[in-house]
Amino acid sequence: MKRLTDRCGWIFRLDMIAAMVVLLLMSSCTTTDKGQADLADPALPEQAAPVYSCYFGTTHGHDSFSGHNRQTKNTVIDHLDQAKTNGYQFYFITDHSQYDTFTPDSWASTLADVNRYTTDTFVAIRGFEFSENDAPGGHMNIYNTPEYISATAPGVNFPYMYDWMIGKQTSTPVYASFNHPEATQYNNWDFLTPERRDKVTMLEVINGVGKDKSGEIVGKLHYTGFMNALERGWRVAPIAGLDAHVPEAIGKAEYRTGMLATSLTKDGLLDAMGHRRTFATYDRNLCVQYTVNGKIMGSVLDNPATLNFAITVADPDTGDENDKITKIEIIGDRGAVAASQAFDEHSVTWNTSLNAQYRYYFLKIYTAGKKDGATAYAAPVWTNRP
Ligand SMILES: [Zn+2]
Ligand SMILES: [Zn+2]
Repeated sequence: MKRLTDRCGWIFRLDMIAAMVVLLLMSSCTTTDKGQADLADPALPEQAAPVYSCYFGTTHGHDSFSGHNRQTKNTVIDHLDQAKTNGYQFYFITDHSQYDTFTPDSWASTLADVNRYTTDTFVAIRGFEFSENDAPGGHMNIYNTPEYISATAPGVNFPYMYDWMIGKQTSTPVYASFNHPEATQYNNWDFLTPERRDKVTMLEVINGVGKDKSGEIVGKLHYTGFMNALERGWRVAPIAGLDAHVPEAIGKAEYRTGMLATSLTKDGLLDAMGHRRTFATYDRNLCVQYTVNGKIMGSVLDNPATLNFAITVADPDTGDENDKITKIEIIGDRGAVAASQAFDEHSVTWNTSLNAQYRYYFLKIYTAGKKDGATAYAAPVWTNRP
């Protein structure tokens, strides 16, 4: 490739050459296949696969612009301050768009605040929550659109909203999540098209600020909704929406959305959202990554016969016995356990091969301190089996 590049540079420097000759030679520079193979320099490596890091934060938060939370000390910046103070690497502001407190002014000032708070170590993104409350209903977060709509506006329903969202993706990526999904919401996961499927890339497997018997903040699991969305053909990756309505909750909750990105930037996180490189975790810093046949989690495969899983899970809190990884399950269609392996370490790798028999696979990760189910749920890969 080096000689090819040199040759092309040489061509562009000879601007005295007649235009016809230049065009002829340029066409040879852009020729692929045989021409490049002949000129390839074996000393230069193939383009390296991207290296992903885990970033932790939340994709869902409300302040006083969500009308039912009108109170002092509940501004966008109160939330962003708390998120930064408590080690969140990202925090998305997603106020309800149907209240009279949600206005063009609040929409503009939210954008100004998230942009001002975004640094090298913290990313804030503006979205809004589209809340269809007529049964069976369903709430969705829509991220990074230049405009917003309300579910209560005349003529607005799910199909309208999906297509509105697709139309808003012009110069900047736009994605959405199903929020705190019950089993048959979103008209029983209706209105799926390939274009809509590529925009709604995430689902809150964990959502909401609640308290268990000990008074601790817990997130509610929405596993049945996740299963039904997958079964109905949506390609959604798990996230955990804190859904804080006051900033005090931010420091108490342990659950996080994890994203695999090449950088902690707005573009990096949007790329993770668009490619479904996300996971939901009850632990604030459990890092999960895996590939199948070399393709990163969230990918769609080409109906392979064999699936080679390469899984890496690590928790940095090596002094905490509760954070030891105790089990990883590979889950297939409708929650079937396709493979399972026990562990007793804070950092584990697991390489295993399976004969493909399901349409999608994802991971559940268990840790020592959580006795009532999995700690983390990682994005599926889709096999593209019919
Ligand atoms: Zn909601
Ligand atoms: Zn909400």
